[in-house]
Amino acid sequence: MTIYEKQSFEQALCRYNLQNRRKRIRILQVNMGKRCNQGCQHCHVESGPKRSENMKKATVDRLLELLSRERKIHTVDITGGAPELNPYFRNLVTVIRGMGKEVIDRCNLTVLFEKGQEDTAEFLAGKQVRIVASMPCYLKDNVDRQRGSGVFEKSIAALKMLNSLGYGRKGSGLMLNLAYNPVEAHLPPEQTALEMDYKMHLKTEYGVEFNQLFTITNMPITRYARMLERDGKINAYMQLLMDNFNPRAAAGKMCNELLSVSWEGRLYDCDFNQVLDIPLNRQPCTLWDIERFDDIESGIAVGDHCFGCTAGAGSSCSGALI
Ligand code: SF4
Ligand code: SF4
Repeated sequence: MTIYEKQSFEQALCRYNLQNRRKRIRILQVNMGKRCNQGCQHCHVESGPKRSENMKKATVDRLLELLSRERKIHTVDITGGAPELNPYFRNLVTVIRGMGKEVIDRCNLTVLFEKGQEDTAEFLAGKQVRIVASMPCYLKDNVDRQRGSGVFEKSIAALKMLNSLGYGRKGSGLMLNLAYNPVEAHLPPEQTALEMDYKMHLKTEYGVEFNQLFTITNMPITRYARMLERDGKINAYMQLLMDNFNPRAAAGKMCNELLSVSWEGRLYDCDFNQVLDIPLNRQPCTLWDIERFDDIESGIAVGDHCFGCTAGAGSSCSGALI
């Protein structure tokens, strides 16, 4: 087994004189739970149909109370699992939209066909929620290999349904973005070129339209890291991430203006730190320990996995960073 040449993420930042401080929280990412109708092999949250962790009403209420005091957070990015399966999802979306903030729903598409979710797409359109939908490839075999048999066809059917509601159509104001992540252990290709390929293929083959493609690097953690370990590829992948450290991407890493809330109401610098349980400033902190999001200190807890955000063109929940 090759041993990768190790350097710490902090050393890499220092080498380029980069600060590791949160400037201001603009985006709040909320994980509503681990329950999901799928069980994808790369899922860093380790979600699946058997997971029962779900954000409770008291946590939703506390989150909304804090958000109502906060003007600078302009976007709430709701994720999971499949967040739509949480019984308080619609209440959370409705109240936040009432505050005039943007809401993003990280939707796996197939959930729109689950029992009880028949009107979820209409609900999202009615609230003008932005959708970011997972679609790791425009080819059936690659999607089914990563996300499960039959997922591609269902995803295309869901995209058509969203298009019929106006999502992804010019002038509708309903944003539909797709998220790509590599099927193999490599960095994502250039985002703009890949977006053009996706748009051409999906339009020609299926009549599907969308707004933007986000390319996202697979993080070397949890389920994906175990898969790499099993295949003897983990060291090569870590080396790839480190060798491609890009200071321009590091300067814009998403944790500089994002805060992540777990289904239990714990606070983290990002979704990845959340699943690794690396709390803010390495001290456990919850929604009940603060009176305002501004109270939170600006230091960011980083580790080796952070090289996944800064390799090549960089990676964030909104795609490439440069
Ligand atoms: S759909 Fe998303 S949350 Fe669900 S298992 Fe797949 S990657 Fe994880
Ligand atoms: S993994 Fe999280 S803490 Fe590390 S650089 Fe990425 S966003 Fe920041």
